[in-house]
Amino acid sequence: MTDSFSATAEIRLALQNGLGADMVLTDSADMLTYCRDWHGDVTSGALAVLRPRSTEDVAAAIRLCRTLGVQLVPQGGNTGLVLGGLPDHPERQVIISLERMNKIRRIDPDDFSAVAEAGCILSDLKDAIADRGMFFPLALGAQGSCRIGGNVSTNAGGINVLRYGMTRELVLGLEVVLPDGTIFEGLSTLRKDNRGIDLKQLFIGAEGTLGIVTAVSLKLAPYPENVATALLGLASLEDAITLFRRARRDCCDLMSAFEFIPPLAFTLAREAMPDLPIPIAGDYPAYVLMEISGSGLVDIDDLMQRFLEAAMTDGLVLDGTIAASQAQARNLWLIREGMNEGQAKRGSHMRSDVSVPLSGLAAFVAEAEAALAAALPDCISISYGHVGDGNVHLNVLPPSHMQGDARLEAIYAAKTVLNEVVDRFDGSISAEHGIGRLKRPDFESRLPETHRHLLVAIKRAVDPELLLNPGCQLSFSTIS
Ligand SMILES: Cc1cc2nc3c(=O)[nH]c(=O)nc-3n(C[C@H](O)[C@H](O)[C@H](O)COP(=O)(O)OP(=O)(O)OC[C@H]3O[C@@H](n4cnc5c(N)ncnc54)[C@H](O)[C@@H]3O)c2cc1C
Repeated sequence: MTDSFSATAEIRLALQNGLGADMVLTDSADMLTYCRDWHGDVTSGALAVLRPRSTEDVAAAIRLCRTLGVQLVPQGGNTGLVLGGLPDHPERQVIISLERMNKIRRIDPDDFSAVAEAGCILSDLKDAIADRGMFFPLALGAQGSCRIGGNVSTNAGGINVLRYGMTRELVLGLEVVLPDGTIFEGLSTLRKDNRGIDLKQLFIGAEGTLGIVTAVSLKLAPYPENVATALLGLASLEDAITLFRRARRDCCDLMSAFEFIPPLAFTLAREAMPDLPIPIAGDYPAYVLMEISGSGLVDIDDLMQRFLEAAMTDGLVLDGTIAASQAQARNLWLIREGMNEGQAKRGSHMRSDVSVPLSGLAAFVAEAEAALAAALPDCISISYGHVGDGNVHLNVLPPSHMQGDARLEAIYAAKTVLNEVVDRFDGSISAEHGIGRLKRPDFESRLPETHRHLLVAIKRAVDPELLLNPGCQLSFSTIS
């Protein structure tokens, strides 16, 4: 006890002496926000929180930690939902937060590109790019807190994936500090570059296990000045999928979001935001939040109007409202965000982020919800998501009276039931959020041997001393 206490004190002193007191937090009250997950369900600890201001600071931190035998867990906005940015061995791990590396190095409208440091908050970056008349399409509920380095490291998805792709498709280049303290300088803004293996791809979605991303060059798009947003009532999820296919055909690939929302969403949104206006009368079995956007000569409002008129004539859309202003559009999106907050207010629950081929989506949701109802009759299932990508968040909410171990057991059982159905549909247990530490056992138990072999070989080649985020994605015993 005394030994470990003095070892901790010694390491903290060495970090402060080596990196400067300004870069190192060791007080547990100061470290708390970095050590707690977004939902507040899990709190860990850390030897220290390091807060570099430059790429050279990151390299110096890695080199010193290597000498001290301390492992580093990178952190951006700490909005990740799978515990990838929280230490699991606080006695030998520091958190390295990129929050102070938040400069936009360049926005270049002529090249349709921007270069930003890893700690830029996504919404700040989007706003600065919009001020220059350009658009960075990555959009997610956490964009006011998550940081671009975290987005790259999780290969984040979000609501605009169906038109612009996941983060991977928006990254032109990366600057990364490697586990030996050297810098991978790959901040190219070239659109085409086929010089051998595209090494930056190694770090995208790696969740901080292979290097610390310090800066990113990004692909921009023209700012979509005209946006039409509609909330639609439909008879079923099958109809929502038919509508999605039709929209892809009829809206010239200008559809930028297509979210499936169940009726329970309105109740949950109102629990979180009691004054939220719900601008659609009547109850429908399924709802869709749809957005078409564009710039220049295309008449987006007319396109939405004509598309919906045809869909209503055919009976595919039963009712709908098109936002008449940006404020109304914002209110429609608040339903989607409020629904998440409403679930959080009901206490700990099973959250999932799965995907299946679009052709199997409706059958998957029906089968999974039926299996969950049979296994956990007291719990409520809610399915919603980015339909166009086959991505569903199928969450299970235990009743309020179920607390303690019973609640945890129900959450665990729900996950097992759901994952079995995902396997039957050849789906993915992580469509967007990554593996982190939370999904690691489910990920590893499904890894084909060849995949495991390649992942371990890459980790050992890039990070032979297992300094960076060990325990994230793959267990320590697998990589060591
Ligand atoms: C309300 C809400 C809505 C969300 N919606 C979506 C959504 O629609 N789509 C989606 O994909 N995700 C979503 N998420 C999850 C989360 O926002 C994303 O995963 C996001 O990309 C994480 O960014 P971050 O900066 O918060 O990363 P963190 O949580 O800090 O870290 C995530 C992982 O990346 C690593 N990491 C962070 N920064 C770096 C770096 N600079 N270099 C190397 N590794 C690093 C960490 O070690 C960790 O493993 C949502 C989360 C919330 C709370």
